[in-house]
This record gives sequence, C-alpha cells and structure tokens, in this order.
Amino acid sequence: MNYFLTEEQEMLKELCAQIAKEKILPVRAEYDESGEFPWDVVKVMADSDIYGVYIPEEYGGFGGGVLEMAIATEELSRVCGGIALAFAASALGAYPILLFGSDEQKKKYLPDIAAGKKLAAFALTEANAGSDAGAIETRAELSGDHYVLNGTKQWITNGGEAETYTVLARTSKGTGIRGMSCLIVEKDTPGFTFGKKEDKMGIRGSATRELIFQDCKVPKENLLGGREGTGFVIAMRTFDKSRPGVAAQAVGIAQGAFDEAAKYARHREQFGQPVGSFQGVQFMLADMATSIEAARALVYQVARAVDAGEKDIAKISAMAKVFASDVAMKVTTDAVQVLGGYGYMKEYPVEKMMRDAKITQIYEGTNQIQRSIIGSAVIKESAAKERNE
Ligand SMILES: Cc1cc2nc3c(=O)[nH]c(=O)nc-3n(C[C@H](O)[C@H](O)[C@H](O)COP(=O)(O)OP(=O)(O)OC[C@H]3O[C@@H](n4cnc5c(N)ncnc54)[C@H](O)[C@@H]3O)c2cc1C
Repeated sequence: MNYFLTEEQEMLKELCAQIAKEKILPVRAEYDESGEFPWDVVKVMADSDIYGVYIPEEYGGFGGGVLEMAIATEELSRVCGGIALAFAASALGAYPILLFGSDEQKKKYLPDIAAGKKLAAFALTEANAGSDAGAIETRAELSGDHYVLNGTKQWITNGGEAETYTVLARTSKGTGIRGMSCLIVEKDTPGFTFGKKEDKMGIRGSATRELIFQDCKVPKENLLGGREGTGFVIAMRTFDKSRPGVAAQAVGIAQGAFDEAAKYARHREQFGQPVGSFQGVQFMLADMATSIEAARALVYQVARAVDAGEKDIAKISAMAKVFASDVAMKVTTDAVQVLGGYGYMKEYPVEKMMRDAKITQIYEGTNQIQRSIIGSAVIKESAAKERNE
C-alpha cells in the first residue's frame, strides 16, 4: 500500500532497509546467540545519521518527528528487532530531554545523541515498580547544588552502553505519582554503576541491565521540567511519543516474518506441489498480510497525528502499540507454523522473530495497561458525548 511518504521519508526508509540488509542481516544470528551489544552496527547507523531523524535541526538532528522515528525503527526491525532497539531505545531516553528539557539542556545533550556519538536510555522500572510506575523507591534528595541519588533500576534497555540516562526518582517523601522527578544522569557520574545484564528470551542483541545509584551526585541543573514533581507527567508524555516506535518495531518484526513465510511457502514442496498452493497456507498468509497492513496504517496515522500536534495522544499511541504488538505476536507465530518443523529450528529466522515479537506486548507498558488507557479514555469520551447531547 502507498503511504504517500515524502521524498525524504522514502529516502530514510531506503537507507534503513539498506543498512538492515547489508549490515544487520549478516550478523543478526551471531548477536542473537552471543547477546553482545552490536556496536559495529550502531557505528554504521550513527555514520548514516539515523540517530538524529526525530531530533530538530537546531539540535543537530534531521528535523523529523515520530513518523521518521517509526519508519527507521520498522525498517531496521524487519531484519532484527533486537539490534533495531539500539536506535529506538535511544529515542526513548532522549524524549524526556526533547519534550521537557530547557534550551540549555537540549543544547548540551541532544547533538551527541543525534550524532549517535552517545546513546540514551530511559530508566523508570524497579524491582517493585513495573506497571505501577508510581511505586518507584529510587530517591533524589537535594543537597546544596546537587541531588543525591540512591536506588536501583532494573531492565533498562541500552543500560551500560548508553552515556545519557533519563532517570525517574522520588524527590518528595510522599508516595504515588506525585513527588516523582526526572533527572539527566551521565554514565561516568561517581556513584553510578551497573549490575546484572539480563539473559533474555528475545531481542538478545539489545542490552538490558540494572542501574545502581549509591550516593550518586547529580548536578541540580540536570532536573528536567524546570521543577520537582513533574516526573510522572514526563514519563507519560514520553511514552505517548515512544509507543508508536514500539508499534513500528512490531510491524517491522511481523513484516520480516511474513516475508520469510511467503518465500518458504513458494519453495517448499509437499504432495508434489508448493505448500503455498494449499488454501490452508494461503489463508494464513492472507490474514498475516492483511493484519500487518492494518497495523502499519494505524501506526503511520497515529505517528502523523502526534507530529501534527493532536492533543490527548495517550489513547491513540496505546492503540497503535497494542494493535501492532498483538499482530506481531500472531504473525510471527503463524510464520513458524507456515515453515512447519523448519520454523522451529534456528537455521531459519522465524523462531527468533517470534521470540523478539513477544517483548513488544510487554515493555513501555504491558498490553493490559494499554487497554486500561484506551478503556478509560473511551469511557470518558462517551460521558462527554452524552453531556453534549
Ligand atoms: C527486555 C525489557 C526491556 C525493558 N526496557 C525498559 C527500559 O528501557 N526502561 C524502563 O524503565 N523499563 C524497561 N522495561 C520494563 C518494562 O517496561 C516492564 O517490564 C513493564 O512495564 C511491565 O512491568 P513488570 O514487568 O513489572 O510487570 P507487572 O507490572 O508486575 O505485571 C505483571 C502482569 O500483571 C499485569 N498487570 C499489572 N497491573 C495491571 C493492571 N492494573 N491491570 C491489568 N493487568 C495488570 C501486567 O499486564 C502483567 O501481565 C523493560 C522490560 C523488559 C523485559
């Protein structure tokens, strides 16, 4: 389907597709096996100016928005959803600065992130605070001209590899979503160390690590949002922008799996004919192709709406994420089915794609949480409609 992308967006798509084919395809199985961080590919992406696609030109970026971030993420994920995350998770870490940073903070941090010289990471989750973001226990106490940060974050994508971290911490004694603030923390800050690197089911080329803060002194000018207590809003507005990126990752993974399944179905013969000639297989391929197109159309439209400045984007961003990630899980599972026993073997990439797809239903808010966001929004909208009747 033609999505009527601009010439620049088409060029970005082609560039990412080329990087994926020439630089990621040959190494994706290796990184999946080793779980190492793909610095060689990151360097290629940085040299190709991919890291700046969603960052304004005045801060060294390409001047695009969420749609450009989604296009790049989709094309890279088509070949490897894990390696693509070295790009997409940097965007997640950068959005709090982009959305809530002062001009000074943006000038200090965004150009290096845009150039891919420094990766970013976003740190909210803790052992006792997953879906319940307001339950974080990491504390930042103001002492003179700096905050003293104490606590442990877990499962942070790009953890240990990134240089710039946007970290949610509690700055007041209260509990819940009030009293949370967001700080920019640089990797080499004394008192900031890294814990366990996770051994994961999928997206194994992505680093997921613990961040440990022990009396870590963060300059007070690194507070985002201009005042304390804005952390929860910063996190939620960040997710509104980044969730279409997870959705795009899901579309890319699904498309990659579909392409493998369609190709295999044309070549594999049973009962003297290609398995793709059987209606049972064709119907699966038809449903896979249709659901991918529906997911892509939703993701692109949501990204365009977000970029056009539509208000109240939490619902539509959640819709894109929940729909595309459910499509990715179904399509990759069906792709394994189309390949039969070979689909279950590591010599074909679809089992990896199925493992990679699963995370898109979990991180940046599980799909149960996305449905809660959508559900409460539609109930509110219905009540508002009734009041206006
Ligand atoms: C590979 C990976 C990378 C990650 N990267 C990052 C990162 O870069 N930065 C970061 O901050 N975090 C990151 N996370 C954390 C991720 O965002 C959380 O795992 C996710 O938000 C869910 O939290 P949880 O795992 O603690 O699940 P829980 O919140 O414990 O949920 C367990 C189950 O209960 C359900 N549930 C919980 N509350 C509700 C509710 N109110 N209604 C209905 N169902 C509910 C959930 O949907 C889930 O099925 C990452 C996680 C993984 C696995």
